[in-house]
Amino acid sequence: MSIDTQAEHKEFQAETREVLRLVIHSLYSHKEIFLRELVSNASDACEKLRFAAIARPELLGTDELTIRLIPDAAAATLTIADNGIGMSREEAVENLGTIARSGTRRFLETLSGDAARDAQLIGQFGVGFYSAFIVADRVTVQSKRADAEAVRWESDGGGTYEVSASEKTQRGSEVILHLRDEDKEFLEPERLRQLVRRYSDHLAIPIVLEYDGKSETLNQAKAFWTRPKGELSDGDYQGFYKHLTHEEGEARAWAHNKVEGSLEYTSLLYLPKSAPYDLFDRERRAGVQLYVKRVFIMDKAAELLPPWLRFMRGVVDSADLPLNVSRELLQNNRTVEKIRAALIKRTLDLLEELAGNDAEGYLQFYQTFGAVLKEGIIEDPAQRTRIAKLLRLRSTAEGGASAWISLADYVGRMPADQKAIYYLTADSETAARGSPHLEGFRAKGIEVLLLTDRIDEWVVNHLHEYEGKSLVSAASAAAEVTSAIQTPEAVAAETAFQATLERLGKALEGSIESARVSPRLTDSPTCLVAGEFGLSLRMNRMLKQAGQDTPFAGRPILEINPKHPLVQRLKDTADTEAFGSLARVLFEQALLAEGGELEDPAGFVRRVNQLIVEGLADPPRIIVG
Ligand code: ADP
Repeated sequence: MSIDTQAEHKEFQAETREVLRLVIHSLYSHKEIFLRELVSNASDACEKLRFAAIARPELLGTDELTIRLIPDAAAATLTIADNGIGMSREEAVENLGTIARSGTRRFLETLSGDAARDAQLIGQFGVGFYSAFIVADRVTVQSKRADAEAVRWESDGGGTYEVSASEKTQRGSEVILHLRDEDKEFLEPERLRQLVRRYSDHLAIPIVLEYDGKSETLNQAKAFWTRPKGELSDGDYQGFYKHLTHEEGEARAWAHNKVEGSLEYTSLLYLPKSAPYDLFDRERRAGVQLYVKRVFIMDKAAELLPPWLRFMRGVVDSADLPLNVSRELLQNNRTVEKIRAALIKRTLDLLEELAGNDAEGYLQFYQTFGAVLKEGIIEDPAQRTRIAKLLRLRSTAEGGASAWISLADYVGRMPADQKAIYYLTADSETAARGSPHLEGFRAKGIEVLLLTDRIDEWVVNHLHEYEGKSLVSAASAAAEVTSAIQTPEAVAAETAFQATLERLGKALEGSIESARVSPRLTDSPTCLVAGEFGLSLRMNRMLKQAGQDTPFAGRPILEINPKHPLVQRLKDTADTEAFGSLARVLFEQALLAEGGELEDPAGFVRRVNQLIVEGLADPPRIIVG
């Protein structure tokens, strides 16, 4: 007897056990999804065989690929059988006994205990097969690859499983569920019909119910996207979306197009409502499946959409690509390039339409995926203008309905003499609203956009302008800013404070570029601004945190508010050491207000405390006029 025919008892990998336990317990109220998962696996196995048969037609032979559902009331089993690719013994152990996916850890971490949400996660992380144990207290799999011995795999979903040789002679897999007493409803033909219609109607492989000696095909068995739009309801589209994404969530909008002519393909693109857990993973591939003439070729064909549209899901079925197309081939293919350009256009059309017809829905989309869409402004100059129109931003304008505005809204209400679009970047909206940089703008009634996504720093650096108006940071020393908010008092103060400014330059040498009288401050004593051509201070900070050199950093300019008592006191401080200490505190305060980090926090505290103590002994003068 060879080792292959012996029964082997094996333990599930620890993580598999944990997933199993969680799947069984968290999906109690969504039991029925097991059928969708197992039918979907059977369908995948059939598509894989169809694909393998391109190179080796003898594999397929004359078989029609089918998925069979066989309820057996006497045995209390439900069998899901397919004549797809099948599994060898090693594959059964590898695929059903371990979860060799890096996503598993995160799956475990993401489980919330909320059954509806967790049910949605199951498919996303590829633990679909284990859903069998929600309704079965024992699962037997018999499987055979065309070129290997058949295998039998069995488990009760506890810690172990058994593999042995099987008598099965036909290619494919059968999953036999020994149903729990309370789950016998899944033996009823009507229940099975209903579930297939709900979850699997759009599968291209026929699903046949074998019951009472009769066979009944339950689904349309036609690739969903090949059906004419007019035949399909919103519910149909949502149903296919669920199948495609394995998610319980809904799509917000979709675009279904058949293209004929020099290029022939069908695309069905979905805009999801909720974000996947790894949306911001830079390695994440765009979620579009590629089919060639209705044969499934690959999942996540990243070449079909740029990374900044990676939140889109869908299907592209091309008649022009070869069936044996590889990822390498996709990378330099004229057809793929043309399809990609068309899909970008379709997606932007879809977004513009949504923004036009359903402002609230668009805002929800934007709050979920806007930060990804913005990457397009940086990466895709050709689409920059279109994407810029789709931006929705916060601003200093009084709240209400205008809380999120477009650049067009901003430009539309700019006073005639305002030359630039002003923005301020900050780590949070609270930080932005409290920033000293806004004081002058507020005093003059000039609206400023508040940008708080990390990516905004890069966005403004690439966007430069909108409709001929340049984008200018409210925190920069640019001439536009100064002339917009300059007051005559500030100009006059420049002379009066000349000596103080020079002393400041010396006292803070190495920390600042220079000091000047601020055109913008009304309440705060000081603030820091970036030089006209330097990177913004926040950008510098982010680059530093990312361990990157900041060659264009430059030092900031310190602006002082001549009306502030602390600045007056600075001016009157003759003693060099006392001047230096106060100057340092004012600089450090400005840095903090900017969201920056102090080099010597303890020193700052000491200096501030000293000032407070001095202040107690010598109450500050009240400055009049
Ligand atoms: P996923 O389908 O997301 O990869 P599953 O847990 O559902 O995760 O299945 C694990 C693996 O087991 C599949 O990727 C596939 O390789 C294999 N498998 C499951 N069902 C079948 C089947 N009916 N025929 C062939 N292989 C299967």
